[in-house]
Amino acid sequence: MKIKAAVVREKGGPFVIEEVELDEPRPDEVLVQIASSGLCHTDLVARMQFLPIPLPGVFGHEGAGVVEKVGSQVKKVKPGDHVATSFMSCGVCTNCKKGKPAWCSEFRRLNFGGRRADGSATMKKGGETIYGSFFGQSTFGTHALVNERNAIKVQSDVPLEILSPMGCGVQTGAGGVINTLKAKPGSSIAVFGIGSVGLSAIMAAVVSGCTRIVAIDVVEERLKLAKEFGATDIINSSKVNPVEEIQKITGVGIEFTLECTGVPKVFRQAVDSLMMGGTCGLIGVAPVGVEVNLEMQVVLDGRTIMGCVEGDCISDIFIPQLIELYKKGRFPFDRLLKFYSLDQINEAAEDSEKGKTLKAILRP
Ligand SMILES: [Zn+2]
Ligand SMILES: [Zn+2]
Repeated sequence: MKIKAAVVREKGGPFVIEEVELDEPRPDEVLVQIASSGLCHTDLVARMQFLPIPLPGVFGHEGAGVVEKVGSQVKKVKPGDHVATSFMSCGVCTNCKKGKPAWCSEFRRLNFGGRRADGSATMKKGGETIYGSFFGQSTFGTHALVNERNAIKVQSDVPLEILSPMGCGVQTGAGGVINTLKAKPGSSIAVFGIGSVGLSAIMAAVVSGCTRIVAIDVVEERLKLAKEFGATDIINSSKVNPVEEIQKITGVGIEFTLECTGVPKVFRQAVDSLMMGGTCGLIGVAPVGVEVNLEMQVVLDGRTIMGCVEGDCISDIFIPQLIELYKKGRFPFDRLLKFYSLDQINEAAEDSEKGKTLKAILRP
């Protein structure tokens, strides 16, 4: 079928709206009519080719839409169902079987390979291959072809167009607190980096019953917003040393920290702010090859560092849970969103890069 999609043709180049041909669903695939697609930092990183993804390609990995057609073997969803689209995993490697699909041994190939698992491409334009299957989906278009595995059935009594960021940014921040750190009621947490992921983490910390929630960022406006979402303390790390400030607030250091910036200096601060026996979750993505220095004595004192990808979650279970919390008014993630039309994707990308928009949502 013919669809409209935002194609990136060269490294760092603009998104160009083009008509391309999308394949019919294979037996294990689902065709989704896209209602909205979130713009995530990883889409912009992919455009810059920090991740070596084949071009020309279509990105977008936070979709929400209506199932239009399903392959012959699909059992999870049927036409008319509402879905959010999330990352792809193989389902058969050891980590997938352990219920840790974000650590799938095939993660890179399935999410960044530009093709299906069997190596075939889902899109073309005339004789030219257009690389899709970004995170097993490529949602910057009117339609997306996803696998049954990464089509997440969601509640139909919630406006569909707000649900797209569930598939990556929101589940990542919330899952970092709930699944990775497993923050308990009465515990203390510091979140470094207050974008849409950091704010999702703060909302999850509130839901988890954390009684001290510290937000750290360099932008005063974002810190104010963090307070509105439930942060009890805010620290502007461009003005004061956050490690010292956290020590002052807590006396002994903090139980949990979550690093959402990918900056080595900030990661070090997140580790150094921990109390003895505390745990730091690392969410922020640094380019391949970036190293960090840690003081060995600090780690020795029972401190733990945990990497966290996609909120360490099983999206089929976790996303509907977050939506239930939203329905109860306990997870107001919709306040992060700003809507654009797909045609405005370059403007949305610029606003996101400048920090003017927390979470851009594109509507085809
Ligand atoms: Zn796997
Ligand atoms: Zn993402």
